[in-house]
Amino acid sequence: MAQIQELPAILADQIAAGEVIERPASVVKELVENAIDAHSRRIDVLVKEAGLAEIRVIDDGAGIPADQVPLAFRRHATSKITSKRELFRVTTMGFRGEALPSIASVADLTMVTAVAGADGYQYHVRGGEVLAQGVASARPGTDVTVSQLFYNTPARLKYLKSPQTELSQIVDMVYRLALGNPTVAISLTNNGKELFRSAGNGNLQQVIAAIYGVKVARKMVAIEGQDDDFTIHGYVSLPELTRAGRKYQTLLINHRYVRNFNLTKALIEGYGSKLMVGRYPFAVIDINLDPLLVDVNVHPAKREVRLSKEAQLGQLLTTTIQARLAQENLIPDVGEKTGQLL
Ligand code: ADP
Ligand code: MG
Repeated sequence: MAQIQELPAILADQIAAGEVIERPASVVKELVENAIDAHSRRIDVLVKEAGLAEIRVIDDGAGIPADQVPLAFRRHATSKITSKRELFRVTTMGFRGEALPSIASVADLTMVTAVAGADGYQYHVRGGEVLAQGVASARPGTDVTVSQLFYNTPARLKYLKSPQTELSQIVDMVYRLALGNPTVAISLTNNGKELFRSAGNGNLQQVIAAIYGVKVARKMVAIEGQDDDFTIHGYVSLPELTRAGRKYQTLLINHRYVRNFNLTKALIEGYGSKLMVGRYPFAVIDINLDPLLVDVNVHPAKREVRLSKEAQLGQLLTTTIQARLAQENLIPDVGEKTGQLL
């Protein structure tokens, strides 16, 4: 056996990138989540060639102080948690301190960032090597441009799908981020063409309308449920509005999009016999709970989470939907009642 050695930092970052950055949509996710964590009001995502040529995310958030920018690109460097205690009470989207070094190790990345009232800073890194950095004039906020994704990891590059597929992954990702954060105005543009824009006024039904169309949004009803541990709010479609796939169901836990088999099942159970076999409702459901009840650190991209009291939450979800749909049967003029905000 060869000698045991510690991996060079760049190689370690590339290995970490393998888990966190799978495709252009992962870059969009990580950059937008950082912008959300920085309390941005507005986030613009501009991609070229479905992100295969370039991904740019501009935010108006807190920015990074000039002297801390290089640190932000170090692995496990984060401003979001400082202790094990906080790891179990995460309220931000990020906390692992991996995204920036991961992206920078497998692409060309330029960040221009500034905090209000101070000089900005520009940082250019490619394949983990810093090519240039220094003071730069910039508006408060952060502007990150990523190009040549996977230029130095040919296996990953080969694994990418057609531009159409990559773009639809980006679109889906932006939709989920917008649904989870209706108070932030998020836009997506590909090759100069605007594909999506949310108003950022906090109206979830309007975000749903921007994504699925006003017709769909009007056939969705607000749900609200609560017990000692969970509050649920969101919109579900009337049983008459369904699709053949599950893609139109968005589950958010403390604003974070997650996949969860049992909760999806609980959602469908709320419809009882009202759905035809193989048909699925539209749903956007935001579940709020004490961060202590959820472990978000079980998946590198945080797609899956581990929930305490999952059965109890499923039960609450089912009964909340059941009760709401039962109520709807008693009100004939549905459109009138649910469409008032649109
Ligand atoms: P994490 O989000 O897990 O902390 P990242 O590698 O994504 O790790 O980012 C590292 C740090 O850089 C963050 O903790 C944050 O302090 C800072 N940062 C990254 N992006 C932004 C941004 N858009 N605005 C302000 N600060 C940012
Ligand atoms: Mg992050």
